[in-house]
Amino acid sequence: MLLRHTPKEISGRAALTINPAKTCQPIGAMYAALGIHGCLPHSHGSQGCCAYHRSTLTRHYKEPISAATSSFTEGASVFGGQANLLQAIDNIFSVYDPEVIAVHTTCLSETIGDDLKQIRIKAEKEGKIPAGKTVLGANTPSYVGSHVTGFSNMVKSMAGLAEPTGKKNGKVNVIPGWVEPCDMEELKRLMSLIGVRFIMFPDTSGVLNGPLSGEYAMFPEGGVTVRELRSAGDSIGTLALGEWCSADAARWLDARHKVPCSVLDMPFGLAATDRFIDALRTIAGVSIPEQVSHERGQLVDMISDMHQYFYSRKVALAGDPDQLISMTEFLVSLDMCPVHIVTGTPGRKFEERIREITGEVPCTVNVRAGGDMFLLHQWIKNEPVDLLIGNTYCKYIARDEDIPLVRWGFPILDRQGHQYFPTVGYKGGLRILEKILGVLLDRQDRDAPEKSFELVM
Ligand code: SF4
Repeated sequence: MLLRHTPKEISGRAALTINPAKTCQPIGAMYAALGIHGCLPHSHGSQGCCAYHRSTLTRHYKEPISAATSSFTEGASVFGGQANLLQAIDNIFSVYDPEVIAVHTTCLSETIGDDLKQIRIKAEKEGKIPAGKTVLGANTPSYVGSHVTGFSNMVKSMAGLAEPTGKKNGKVNVIPGWVEPCDMEELKRLMSLIGVRFIMFPDTSGVLNGPLSGEYAMFPEGGVTVRELRSAGDSIGTLALGEWCSADAARWLDARHKVPCSVLDMPFGLAATDRFIDALRTIAGVSIPEQVSHERGQLVDMISDMHQYFYSRKVALAGDPDQLISMTEFLVSLDMCPVHIVTGTPGRKFEERIREITGEVPCTVNVRAGGDMFLLHQWIKNEPVDLLIGNTYCKYIARDEDIPLVRWGFPILDRQGHQYFPTVGYKGGLRILEKILGVLLDRQDRDAPEKSFELVM
């Protein structure tokens, strides 16, 4: 009982987080930056911050994450980190020769008040940015928001590279949000099947799920190029997947460069994928290809075959807003009861959206934005559940309360596969169902008395 001190009684906590359901802004910014081709993320702060961001991403993606740091010491902490960053830009281009340096701030540099834009302009004037190379920056103070906010801020900076020429390129900008590299691959496969030409950013496929080739590549093949990002201002529209991760960049492109945007839910589960496919079909002006209808039919078939095992099961979820919204909708469509839902990312809109989705669910639903794992555990103690869905940190609750756990979201530190097996789209829906069914039926097998232990379930 590692969490044996969690009491069942819930008392008000206004200024205390226990076991956060989020991590810090720069981690999101670093993940987004890795989705740019030839990019070296740079953490403008102390070495400790950078080490934490890199190790969290390395543990989740099982790939070495390269990133540089401004290495603040006492002097920079007091007088500002401009000199460190200028030196770093010079060193990085000389030693590693990336196409792009994507700088994000940290709590420390934000508190000092370092001005990234001014430092970048100074670096340009001093000739520290070679011709054809790019430095972009995002403000990611971690005392507000979460890793999701940091991701969104860096994606918005990418959108800032757009340079419209006045001639449309016939492509659609697709902002996939914080999904796995394999999910980005799956989205690209679906778009290609439908015949949509696209610019996807960020795109970590081929960067964080590449093969072991025996050759070390400092900058893998994948990632959106700066050229594509510049062209994003000439696109015919933008599809932003997820209000929290992607909408800001899409709305900025719309307001600044008149690239019309639609904000959709992330395509997890049947209904959200239907909406994504329909949006693509409308943009491309085509009918849905047979292959896509076939995949949809397979998902519907599995839902009908296995509905008896899903029906009325109570579920607790922890994770990030965009993912939780689509997953909750999917669970409701399976006649499951998502009863406790927590995200560490703040935002009342999340709670309202979940209430809308779960309006017809025949149970009381607890939902909290800016909540923590401690609260989720307390809710579970008061109203037990059949299933827990969330990241690796949920394993402590799952163990103490003896609940089957489906690992999904970020970070997953103790399992493999999430970077290779997509959970978006119809095929991804099959994967989600397979994972849920696996743990529910394993539990049924484990708990069945001998007289009712069945070979066929
Ligand atoms: S100090 Fe701030 S930026 Fe650095 S690791 Fe901690 S929360 Fe993240």
